[in-house]
Amino acid sequence: MRKPWVDQDACIGCELCVINVPEVFRLADHDKAEVYDPGGETEDTIQQEAMDVCPVSCIYWRD
Ligand code: SF4
Repeated sequence: MRKPWVDQDACIGCELCVINVPEVFRLADHDKAEVYDPGGETEDTIQQEAMDVCPVSCIYWRD
């Protein structure tokens, strides 16, 4: 299963992914997003509601 991953060096903490897909993403220390439940939503939802809207495109898939 592919798992989403946030590059926290690039994340600007806008919270879009956290607001749109709270089943998968949450705000971590230093106001950066992190993945806490990679299987919390479907791949399509993660792709469309988080990855595609991230303003700095810092959410990636990892095998
Ligand atoms: S949408 Fe992108 S920049 Fe915004 S909090 Fe999520 S990972 Fe960070």
